[in-house]
Amino acid sequence: MDTQRLRIAIQKSGRMAEGSNELLQAAGLRLPSRSKTTLFQRARNLPIDLLLVRDDDIPHFVATGVADIGIVGENVYAEWQLDAPEAPVSLVRRLGFSFCRLCLATPKDGPLRSPKDLEGKSLATSYPLILQRYFDEQGINASIMQMSGSVEVAPKLGIADGIFDIVSSGATLEANGLGTIADVFHSEALIIQTEKALSEDKASILARLLTRIECVQASRQIKYLMLNAPQSKLAAITNLLPGADAPTVLPLQGKGDMVAIHAVVQDADLWETLEKLKAEGASSILVTPIEKMMA
Ligand code: ATP
Ligand code: ZN
Repeated sequence: MDTQRLRIAIQKSGRMAEGSNELLQAAGLRLPSRSKTTLFQRARNLPIDLLLVRDDDIPHFVATGVADIGIVGENVYAEWQLDAPEAPVSLVRRLGFSFCRLCLATPKDGPLRSPKDLEGKSLATSYPLILQRYFDEQGINASIMQMSGSVEVAPKLGIADGIFDIVSSGATLEANGLGTIADVFHSEALIIQTEKALSEDKASILARLLTRIECVQASRQIKYLMLNAPQSKLAAITNLLPGADAPTVLPLQGKGDMVAIHAVVQDADLWETLEKLKAEGASSILVTPIEKMMA
């Protein structure tokens, strides 16, 4: 294997594929176009190659060093770790996308309304080890039936009393007459890394990539805010700007005591802040995204 190019395993297609690609492209990776059968992509501008695979295979590829790092859901990583506790894979970064939950769900019109009611019952799941760990913690004895997909139909078919599966909006559960009774595991996309030593070249490109990813993540949480306001309101307005310690203040030519205020601000609840700024006398308020920021 090439010791100079970092190899990253990502999901080929599915719910993590777009987020993984977007993140790598935002970090500057330029990739050739791909077809449905592409398994391998060589970045044009950086010593990085992508391995496009099923998400379930990613921890194994990273453990064996077939890939140096991988982007995978915490659910898949946790299940794999419980299966192979000695495996040399470590968690490097939480990525803040592909958020989902693993929940216990049972027929809505049935008697199983809480996890304790599952004693002696059977549950269908694709995550038997995460579920077993939960049952052990709760002191519940139940039988676990592993299914690789379409878990939500198991109760209807009479093959399990309930399920343990990924829930996002709850619409799939609803359509199968199921309701959640416990939220067991929260998941997001992770970067995982092989614990096999990386060559110097690979370690250096990985360090650069991680710095760039941090910049991308940081810039997604902030915005650039510009507004005009009377000089007399400067202190009140600056106080309202979330996370902006030193805004830029510029005189506005021919507008009396009006000034322009520019600042980098936190994106959370920005609508509310904008309303308060307006009430304090701010006008011509502009908010723009920040593409890159390096502190
Ligand atoms: P593959 O063909 O690669 O095996 P899959 O069908 O097993 O794909 P997907 O449904 O594409 O898996 O989900 C991939 C991962 O995305 C999940 O393991 C989970 O971490 C995350 N995920 C699943 N559902 C959602 C959701 N509704 N919203 C956000 N993230 C999700
Ligand atoms: Zn999968």
